Amino acid sequence: MEKAQLNYIDDSVIAWLETLDDIIPSLIKEMVTSTKQNRFDLVTNVDKSIQQKFEQFLAQHFPEHQLFAEEKSNVDINARQGHVWIMDPIDGTTNLVKQQEDYCIILGYFVDGEPVLSYIYDYPHRKLYKAIKGYGAYVNGEPILEPEPIDLQEAIISFNSLVINDETIHDLQDGSFGYRCIGSCGLDSIRVIKGQFGAHINTNPKPWDIAAQFLFSSELGLKMTTLDNTALDFAKAGPFIISNPACHEAVLAILNSGKGYKK
Ligand code: NAP
Ligand code: CA
Ligand code: CA
Repeated sequence: MEKAQLNYIDDSVIAWLETLDDIIPSLIKEMVTSTKQNRFDLVTNVDKSIQQKFEQFLAQHFPEHQLFAEEKSNVDINARQGHVWIMDPIDGTTNLVKQQEDYCIILGYFVDGEPVLSYIYDYPHRKLYKAIKGYGAYVNGEPILEPEPIDLQEAIISFNSLVINDETIHDLQDGSFGYRCIGSCGLDSIRVIKGQFGAHINTNPKPWDIAAQFLFSSELGLKMTTLDNTALDFAKAGPFIISNPACHEAVLAILNSGKGYKK
């Protein structure tokens, strides 16, 4: 895709993301929470409205672009063909409901299966992270540098402790410097992207949880793989790690040496 066209799409999407600053406060004021599969699986009017508004934005400005997103069925979409946006309208819904902090909007733009633009908008802290294929990664317009190597013994690592067996959790804690988990796949990944965490693991993400991370990883020299250290399929997702290159193999060695993990 030509740079001018990419810039035009980038400017348009950034302008759309900026409109959220005016919209989200009133959505939160009237927040209505419902459950999906179980009492911990939450969705709110904030998630649904943001997704709807982005769908309207695409229909108006880029009618040939398709939306593959969490709060819709996606049955008739081939994510590998044409212009496709993958969206998690709110990643960290539990944090939104319980804390009104540590949630984000995830957007990944794929052209014929290749990631070309990615955004993670940390709305509560007004930090917009973006990556452009071939042009690096930025936060609020300032370049993000490739993280320094972090060996596992110096690294903070992040995962959901409900899905890793106790023995493996202890081995990961013994092998690393420490454990933290923000509770938003996008924002836990951002910590790796900024060189703060060594790695983040999610054993069961969907395409929208990890759509943006591909491009940040390739632009910044990070590792993003399955937990078997193979290539990840963006259209299917599944068990994943995003990692500083210096501790990627060491984390996977521990993760795969014990009783493993649950999905
Ligand atoms: P949470 O606060 O609900 O979610 C933390 C992060 O994980 C968010 O990015 C969330 O995305 C995502 N997520 C939510 N449900 C998930 C699932 N079933 N599998 C993978 N990622 C998921 O997390 P929690 O309160 O600790 O746990 C809620 C449930 O989700 C539990 O059943 C837990 O086992 C499961 N979970 C599993 C993993 C995993 O690595 N397999 C990770 C997190 C949570 P949204 O905010 O967009 O939903
Ligand atoms: Ca999510
Ligand atoms: Ca979500």
